[in-house]
Amino acid sequence: MKFGGTSVGKPEMMRRVAQLITRDNQPKMVVLSALSGTTNALIAISQDLYEHKKQSAAEKIDKLYQHYQQFVELLYQNEKYKKEAQTKVREQFNQIHTLAATKKFTSVEERIMLAQGELLSTQMFALLCQELGIKSLLIPALEFMRIDADGEPDLTFIEQNLRKILASYEPFPIYITQGYICKNSNDEIDNLKRGGSDYTASLLGAALRSPAIEIWTDINGMHNNDPRIVKKTFPIAELSFEEAAELAYFGAKILHPTCIIPAQKYNIPVWLLNTMQPEAQGTVIKNLPNSSNKPDIRAIAAKDGITAINIKSSRMLLAYGFLRKIFEVFEKYKTPIDMITTSEVAVSLTIDNPAYLSEITLELKKFGQVQIDKQQTIICVVGNFKAEKSGVVAKVLQSLKEIPLRMVSYGGSDHNISILLDTQYKAIALNTLNESLFEWK
Ligand code: ADP
Ligand code: ASP
Ligand code: MG
Repeated sequence: MKFGGTSVGKPEMMRRVAQLITRDNQPKMVVLSALSGTTNALIAISQDLYEHKKQSAAEKIDKLYQHYQQFVELLYQNEKYKKEAQTKVREQFNQIHTLAATKKFTSVEERIMLAQGELLSTQMFALLCQELGIKSLLIPALEFMRIDADGEPDLTFIEQNLRKILASYEPFPIYITQGYICKNSNDEIDNLKRGGSDYTASLLGAALRSPAIEIWTDINGMHNNDPRIVKKTFPIAELSFEEAAELAYFGAKILHPTCIIPAQKYNIPVWLLNTMQPEAQGTVIKNLPNSSNKPDIRAIAAKDGITAINIKSSRMLLAYGFLRKIFEVFEKYKTPIDMITTSEVAVSLTIDNPAYLSEITLELKKFGQVQIDKQQTIICVVGNFKAEKSGVVAKVLQSLKEIPLRMVSYGGSDHNISILLDTQYKAIALNTLNESLFEWK
């Protein structure tokens, strides 16, 4: 069971989580995020420290500390646990102050800083469980969560070390651990990127071959469209692993982009549930037979911050090996490509990590003219787009007829149409698609 930032972001919510984990007697692993707002605050503090704004960082740290002191005050009834939590929180903030005082603030310090949120929330929650008489054990994620040199989770290491740690204690009905944080191949503290607690939960579910993975958040499951931008959205009861993976990867914030992969590997259903409304049905993501009675269009997601790259070259005409040369440039800079479209004399592709954009552009210029467009958005429509299903793609494009489209990608899989457009058109595109594709609702 994984509980996100808002699920533990208020003392009464944290108490509700304690109730939820004891609703049945199933043994479980509980993964917690940082309290909502904490990771953002730690990122802002780190930014100040990079820019040598010590005073501003100190003010932010004080504000955050006050927030935690108030939280502790309200969370516990019993003075003994309150005192213990105050000490733990103070110790954690001492670490934050030590990091803030380092002469040269580097990415090593930043990653230790970002880990503090989950270290705080789990210690506070473990003490709450003790106060409430819930038999549980806090196990440190930094001892078994690990990424390799490419930043990919090392599932074998995770499984072996987690099992070793669990075997070293008498069995507990409930284990608590930190989401998001891990060690990397240099044995430094690192993380699984924003929203990474979902990924932790899925990796642990896979490592333990758990019968289910539950992601508890602040909404009744995966909606058919981004509820932050579109008014009339509704939850989807069931999604296949493939559908959910596409939606997560292409921007549905409710799930970390790659967190479906470990669950799918071991065929473990993933439930998306609402901490504020535990009885709501939510969404289950599982192996679904390709049933033809599913609606043609399932859901829409959008991913911002995309850069489009167009390479035009007459040398491409009738040449072979051209695409390989282009792809090699991206491989060299470890930059994944999301979308691609080609014509006889040009290739357009998109990336979401612009870290090496200037190096990549320079190398691509050897092959032809290069044009870069920033601030693009990929809109991903997920549904049943099998070639024999006529008219579905036409319906999608028809509803966007007033909006300038930069790229369209269809046919790569049976369940995705991706459309690239300038980010200024995103809200209108999502709303228009919602109206025309889900009007039957
Ligand atoms: P947590 O802190 O629990 O991990 P997140 O904020 O990461 O929660 O994810 C939940 C939020 O994702 C929702 O409050 C909602 O605003 C947003 N969201 C974006 N797209 C979708 C979608 N398609 N379905 C449901 N929620 C979505
Ligand atoms: N606390 C981390 C974040 O805000 C991880 C998570 O919440 O999943 O990104
Ligand atoms: Mg999240």
